[in-house]
Amino acid sequence: MPRSKGRGGRPWRRIRAQILAASQTCWICGHGGADTVDHVIPLTLGGAPLDPANLRPAHGVKGCPVCRRKCNSSKGNKTALPAPRTSRAW
Ligand SMILES: [Zn+2]
Ligand SMILES: [Zn+2]
Repeated sequence: MPRSKGRGGRPWRRIRAQILAASQTCWICGHGGADTVDHVIPLTLGGAPLDPANLRPAHGVKGCPVCRRKCNSSKGNKTALPAPRTSRAW
């Protein structure tokens, strides 16, 4: 039974590959070399998880080779990132 589209596949991987094949310019910092994709509208705000229109290339955990930002993880809060929290006296 050939593996056709539908069940059993990993649509996320395929879509991510598609996005990165079309462009690797990070939509957050504008540099190339994006290795992951990011949701333009976060899922928490009702963004479509697998809609290419809602996905843009972004730099993942390796970070941007130019500006060294980890664009995807610095924007989303999926990956734990130490937020610059100033501890207030009060
Ligand atoms: Zn970037
Ligand atoms: Zn950059």
